[in-house]
Amino acid sequence: TYVIAEPCVDVLDKGCIEECPVDCIYEGGRMLYIHPDECVDCGACEPVCPVEAIYYEDDVPEEWAAYTQANVDFFEDL
Ligand code: SF4
Repeated sequence: TYVIAEPCVDVLDKGCIEECPVDCIYEGGRMLYIHPDECVDCGACEPVCPVEAIYYEDDVPEEWAAYTQANVDFFEDL
């Protein structure tokens, strides 16, 4: 799955939402989140993000590692 990390906070460009073929990117408070079970790993969202907030799960930078779980937790709390 792909993960949205800290650069999205208070930016919410939403260009990624337009690109996602399965509509699995959701707005939640100060950032956007990718539903880990709905994402089909197509990668279409990653290059359109103007702040480089989107990463494949294995490529999330160390300092934002917690965002991988944050994307999971967001949907469990709904
Ligand atoms: Fe949507 Fe593809 Fe991005 Fe997953 S990788 S969130 S399916 S655009």
